[in-house]
Amino acid sequence: MLTVNENYLKLPGSYLFSEIAKRVSAFKAENPDKSVIPLSIGDTTRPLSPTVIAAMHKAVDEMGQLGSYRGYGPEQGYAFLRETIRDKAYKPLGVDIAVDEIFISDGAKSDCGNIGDIFGKDNVVAICDPVYPVYVDTNAMAGRAGDYDGTRWTDLLYLPCNEANGFMPELPVRTPDIIYLCFPNNPTGASATKPQLKLWVDYALKNGAVILFDAAYEAYISEDNIPHSIYEIEGARECAIEFRSFSKTAGFTGTRCAYTVVPMDLKFGGVQINKLWNRRQCTKFNGVPYVIQRAAEAVYTEQGMRETREIIDYYMNNARVIRSGLKNAGLTVYGGINSPYIWVKTPDGADSWGFFDRLLKEAGVAVTPGAGFGPEGEGFIRLTGFGDAEQTKQAVERVIKVIK
Ligand code: PLP
Repeated sequence: MLTVNENYLKLPGSYLFSEIAKRVSAFKAENPDKSVIPLSIGDTTRPLSPTVIAAMHKAVDEMGQLGSYRGYGPEQGYAFLRETIRDKAYKPLGVDIAVDEIFISDGAKSDCGNIGDIFGKDNVVAICDPVYPVYVDTNAMAGRAGDYDGTRWTDLLYLPCNEANGFMPELPVRTPDIIYLCFPNNPTGASATKPQLKLWVDYALKNGAVILFDAAYEAYISEDNIPHSIYEIEGARECAIEFRSFSKTAGFTGTRCAYTVVPMDLKFGGVQINKLWNRRQCTKFNGVPYVIQRAAEAVYTEQGMRETREIIDYYMNNARVIRSGLKNAGLTVYGGINSPYIWVKTPDGADSWGFFDRLLKEAGVAVTPGAGFGPEGEGFIRLTGFGDAEQTKQAVERVIKVIK
């Protein structure tokens, strides 16, 4: 008889955002006259930029013509996009990345999860706590997390990120093989300086570990001393894989396009990791649509970059409104400077879900309970700058009224 992957049966409850959606729908059903402003899920709300749309239209027309029609594309992505990323995303940082080190994909979420395919089951995995849940759940599905004890997974190495350490993970005592780092961070909004990342690169090199660096929010960095890529750190080419995405950078959350960099210098036990990832992608993935890759390419044109910057500024202005509004109201807030996320301490030691329910019911504002990102997230909520500017202002006013 068929057996299932029992690791799936160990996964607790429903996914964080499904639970939030469930509670919000229940509240709306009971209170049809009340509006709920969503500041919870990290989804973009501004339309794609005109330059991106124009490129997409042009590519759609090409697909309708004999001669310019395209069927299957390269699994790794079209050269035009990979070359553009090399020249426009990395060269300005002083980082040399070769075209065959760049893999275009349909999302950083897929890549962060799928990357586990090429690593052995017995590797010890370190994750920050709180954390983007995908790293945890995909490792649980692969059998690397052990069992869930109601709070933590028995085999994962948790790196606490809290007020005491400035939301920056400290080097662990037990040595992991796979280290997930995400900066600017979702959910805490913390960003890492070069010396802070260097510490991790040196540690990974010394211990033969790989760093899986999620840079999905690098476009939100506003301070000069914050690196945009882990490859700005010496030695990272020998120990790190970087995930980036057009989702938050250019509003591609629904359009789907991202990329992962796997340097040729990354080798473990004599095996070149780039070769394994290439093999994995060629076997299980058939590429991102041509139309979407042309749209992504347009993000890097001069006009595309200007328009993209305007959208990011719009979101970051929301982040500032949330940050300053709540701070002036006496709440303790973090993030929102190099990241669209604001990490807010709940008042009077309230628990995350309790405060979530209170804000939903009394303010009509949906946030994300910090506890949903890991045990260290308890006592915090996450708000996002991805909403509508007017609604964001309203939401802040409503929250302030409730807590005062
Ligand atoms: N990585 C982090 C840290 C995220 O917060 C998200 C989305 O919220 C993703 C990756 C997913 O990106 P994508 O839309 O490219 O799958």
